[in-house]
Amino acid sequence: MDQFPISSADALFAIEAVREASLLARRIQREMVTGTLTKDDRSPVTVADFAVQAVIARRLAEQLPGATLIGEENADALRLEEGVAILDQITEFVRSSISDATPEEVCNLIDRGAGEPPETYWTLDPIDGTKGFLRREQYAVALALVRNGKVELGVLGCPELAPKNVGIAGQSSDADGCICVASRDQGAWCQPLTAKPGWQKLTASPHTQSSSARILRSVEKSHTNVDEISQLASKLGTTEPPVGMDSQAKYAVLAAGGGDIMLRLLSPSRPDYREKIWDQAAGSIVIEEAGGRITDLDGKSLDFSHGRTLAKNRGVVATNGHLHDAVLSALRQLGA
Ligand code: AMP
Ligand code: MG
Repeated sequence: MDQFPISSADALFAIEAVREASLLARRIQREMVTGTLTKDDRSPVTVADFAVQAVIARRLAEQLPGATLIGEENADALRLEEGVAILDQITEFVRSSISDATPEEVCNLIDRGAGEPPETYWTLDPIDGTKGFLRREQYAVALALVRNGKVELGVLGCPELAPKNVGIAGQSSDADGCICVASRDQGAWCQPLTAKPGWQKLTASPHTQSSSARILRSVEKSHTNVDEISQLASKLGTTEPPVGMDSQAKYAVLAAGGGDIMLRLLSPSRPDYREKIWDQAAGSIVIEEAGGRITDLDGKSLDFSHGRTLAKNRGVVATNGHLHDAVLSALRQLGA
């Protein structure tokens, strides 16, 4: 079995902070997302988003003081009168990790993630795949360290991704989730979220035939272009229908060889959409370190040095590496 080589202080902080936050998110999902929840009721995901960002901001400040956090959320809405009730709920959950947390401190912790990224920063998506969280399907806690526009380290906590889905079942049950870590030139690794029996190396699939490729995409049609994905699939001659999965959990599945191609094409309703850094940073290094490849639709590397979005990139294509040129060429032919 391969020896787990990742031991930097940055990595140890990120793994344990994401594990703690993922367990908190899972508890919030299980306690608050009920069968009777209406589609418009976004409060459970709001509580989880803010609580996770507060806990990770606190752990970062304690363990790596001076580090900068760029997170998806800010506390503006929680500081208004309408935010008081939800802030109380958030603070209650945060207290299970940080026993002396006050509502004011929770707001201040969340706001550590506001602002523009400097040269070196951590970026956090506290709950990636909010729709999946509400459907009790896939979501991820995604944290990454970026230096000079390149991701150096990424951790994905996937509380609803069964270990067997990334080929690391071991002794753990299907009810356990996964945590994946990748560090530049040190590989991508995964272990069950709670059972923790060592780390297993992730390796992207060896498939070279596009006709048998398994395509992963978003569940939410507004986050991609499903018609263009179907056209691409016919161009490649793939027979299996694309699989929809929320969040960067699909990046972990691709890295584990459970899919061959992952596409984020531009939605016809949002052709100018630019990806957010926290939606791509952790997942992209997990794919690369598993031997896969990730670029934008034009084949350009993802550039994390242009603020809070990937302003210089359009969409995202990730593959096991072998199929990448074929996918880019098919996309060009489609004019995507
Ligand atoms: P997924 O789970 O693959 O649907 O991706 C979830 C992420 O998509 C969210 O975290 C959003 O930030 C992001 N998102 C929101 N709108 C769009 C859009 N128009 N195109 C692509 N991604 C989007
Ligand atoms: Mg997200």
